[in-house]
Amino acid sequence: MLVVGNWKMNGTAAVNNQLLQAILADWSPLRCVDVAICPPFVYLPQVVEMLSEGPINVGGQSLNPRVNGAFTGEVSGEMLLDCGCRYVIVGHNERRRMQAETDLYVAEQFLAAQKNGLIPILCVGESEQAREAGQAFDAIAKQLKVVIDAAGLEAFSHAVVAYEPIWAVGTGKTATPDQAQEMHTFIRGQFGALGKNLVILYGGSVKASNAVSLFAESDIDGALLGGASLNAEDFIAICQSAEQVATGVTQ
Ligand code: PEP
Repeated sequence: MLVVGNWKMNGTAAVNNQLLQAILADWSPLRCVDVAICPPFVYLPQVVEMLSEGPINVGGQSLNPRVNGAFTGEVSGEMLLDCGCRYVIVGHNERRRMQAETDLYVAEQFLAAQKNGLIPILCVGESEQAREAGQAFDAIAKQLKVVIDAAGLEAFSHAVVAYEPIWAVGTGKTATPDQAQEMHTFIRGQFGALGKNLVILYGGSVKASNAVSLFAESDIDGALLGGASLNAEDFIAICQSAEQVATGVTQ
């Protein structure tokens, strides 16, 4: 299992300090769950430093696929690795929509992440409109295909996929475990034999109250969290839910 917290554009040095202190103070070791936090770029050094002694990894929220050059405001994969990142999110729906990132650009980011030794967390998700029109599976297949065509299936043995239905991200409207499981099974099916070991996260209004029922689904391997990663108690509870489901031990 893997639980990743995406802080988005939240926090200040003081707020991050307080949040991480609170998480570390109540942290219990997890045997079967990897955990990562993706802060805004400017706070990567602070977060890496504060988490350096512990089991929580750090990731970037995006990257520019170019190596370097005249790309004002951008950050490369090499820079993220340099800062101590292990993961990087690519294709988050907020960036696809607000920064007009296309499937092809996301594929370039995926390739650049791996080239720089980072594990890409590839987000895919359908709009509410697509779901209502019965086109959710087509939408996901298309987003995946562009990256698979560019990187090859084998590349996914060092990558994570996050299924994040757009209508569920930041809306408080979580996909039901059945809806998520159905899509995760479909996603796994796109990867042939490799699909068996692919880590597929669910993201979209995961909370402490619904995490266990989602994690209990056989094709859900963890969560990508937005809002819940900004609250120490919720973040810890969700990580512990993952551990509980993975180990079969109620805490
Ligand atoms: C996200 O931003 O990836 C996300 C899943 O957000 P939230 O948990 O707030 O819906």
